Formats: sequence, C-alpha cells, structure tokens
Amino acid sequence: MDDCIFCKISSKQVPSKIVYEDDSVMAFYDIEPQAPVHIVIIPKKHIKSLDHIIEQDKNLVGYIFLCAKKIASELGLKNGYRIVNNCGKLGGQTVDHIHFHLLGGRQLQWPPG
Ligand code: 5GP
Ligand code: ZN
Repeated sequence: MDDCIFCKISSKQVPSKIVYEDDSVMAFYDIEPQAPVHIVIIPKKHIKSLDHIIEQDKNLVGYIFLCAKKIASELGLKNGYRIVNNCGKLGGQTVDHIHFHLLGGRQLQWPPG
C-alpha cells in the first residue's frame, strides 16, 4: 500500500527503531510512547485492521503473539506487559494497517479510557 506509513516502515522507506524483524513480522519502537516500553508489532502484509483478517491470516496473527512474547522477554518485561489492538474509529485506531501495541515497564491501569 503506497500511502500506508507502516508499509513504508516495513519496506524501510521510512526509518524506525527496529527491535525485531523476520520475513513476515516487524516490531519497532512507537514514535509517541505511552509507557517506558512501547513497541508496535505489525505483519508485513498490509491488512487494514483486525476486522479485516481472513481465515488464511490466522497463523500470521497467532505468530505475532509468539513474537510479542519473545520481544517482551528480550526487553526484560518479566513482571508483565500488555498487548493492545485498536480496531476501527471507536476502537481508537489511527493507522490503518493492523498492529499490536506491546506496552510495559510500568503498572498499567484497567479499564483503559
Ligand atoms: P493506533 O492509534 O492506530 O492504535 O496506533 C498507531 C501508533 O503508531 C501510535 O501509537 C503512533 O504513535 C504510532 N505511529 C504513528 N506513526 C508512526 C511512525 O511514523 N513511526 C513510529 N515508530 N510510530 C508511529
Ligand atoms: Zn500497510
């Protein structure tokens, strides 16, 4: 997708501070961190939102959670962390390329706003 910022990050047209990358997934530091550790995890495949995943994406989405666990461990988040997916306008999604926030490094509150 030509005008998608996360596609540009995954193709390295736009720089980011990468923490993890393989053939199908990339993770990088959020430009506007909401916690001491705030990573954005994306599939390299452009999928608009969680609401747009299809049956054939199920392994990819599951694999992202495995990556999240590995990244959390590598970043030393041994006392816990949170994975967040904002989906659609009311879900607070601002970038239309599915992504998962990995937040940690402080006590996180519940429920979110
Ligand atoms: P959303 O609000 O869609 O759930 O999350 C989008 C996230 O992407 C936000 O936390 C925002 O700070 C982050 N973001 C937006 N543009 C960029 C960018 O160009 N680089 C990085 N590293 N993060 C970005
Ligand atoms: Zn994209």
